[in-house]
Amino acid sequence: ATPTSIMVGTGRAAELGVLFRQGEALQSLKETGIVALDKTGTLTQGRPELTDFMTAPGFSEAEALRLIASVESRSEHPIAQAIAAAAGRRGFPLPAAEGFEAVPGFGVSALVEGRKVDVGADRFMTTLGLDVSTFGDAAARLGQEGKSPLYAAIDGRLAAVIAVADPIKASTPEAIAALHALGLKVAMITGDNRRTAEAIARQIGIDQVAAEVLPDGKVEAVKRLREAHGRIAFVGDGINDAPALAEADIGIAIGTGTDIAIESADVVLMSGDVRGVVNAIALSKATIRNIR
Ligand code: ADP
Ligand code: MG
Repeated sequence: ATPTSIMVGTGRAAELGVLFRQGEALQSLKETGIVALDKTGTLTQGRPELTDFMTAPGFSEAEALRLIASVESRSEHPIAQAIAAAAGRRGFPLPAAEGFEAVPGFGVSALVEGRKVDVGADRFMTTLGLDVSTFGDAAARLGQEGKSPLYAAIDGRLAAVIAVADPIKASTPEAIAALHALGLKVAMITGDNRRTAEAIARQIGIDQVAAEVLPDGKVEAVKRLREAHGRIAFVGDGINDAPALAEADIGIAIGTGTDIAIESADVVLMSGDVRGVVNAIALSKATIRNIR
């Protein structure tokens, strides 16, 4: 492309809320074979709500929720905020949590009123030597509904199964359909549960799912998708997404996301809307056509 057509292209992109931090990205984006997107905060709103809370025999719901929310009130994770907010709505005063510890991609732990409280994914419970299958198929059912199941242990005993649901952004299904119309494959990369991820992928028309990816596994997932499908654009918003944004052939950050994601990206979408990815790729194709 000529310098002029690139200037026109990036100017037109800016009008559509698509900021090219690298001029080259406008030219190379049209070569993309697959677009991979982070789930939480990119395809979904990133503001989950607590939907289910079931306790094991011997634990009252009020007591368990109070202890769990106390630990989660110390975490910045969107899941934690959903749990803390649910306890807040029920007017529970939260006791202080001591010795708070977060294990990224797994969960959180602390001492509350002298009791050890652990909250997190099934793999977190496994690392604690707890067998979540005692809850039967609860997690499978929740996952099939597109909800994210979590577990809590109190004093080393499984105490609760919790689910949160994160609404899909209204613009997401349309954006995925438009990427398909451009002839692209669309993948999702997430730390969330496999069943949940697959249920959401089905709802919005995603072709490929990499689920239960640990925070430093997103780079590997990008590499694997590139080997299978060619040049890859990765779209994300979180701190966890920064290395994958740098690894992808084109990194696209959601402008409402974290600073580190934005700094790692070649392209920034000024709105929180995935349709910006479609605009960016369509513009890349149009810019190249103009100069032929
Ligand atoms: P994602 O952003 O895709 O949810 P994370 O790596 O942040 O990925 O988390 C992966 C999983 O670890 C979550 O889906 C959840 O099961 C568990 N987890 C992480 N942090 C917390 C927390 N504060 N409370 C409960 N579970 C957590
Ligand atoms: Mg995210």
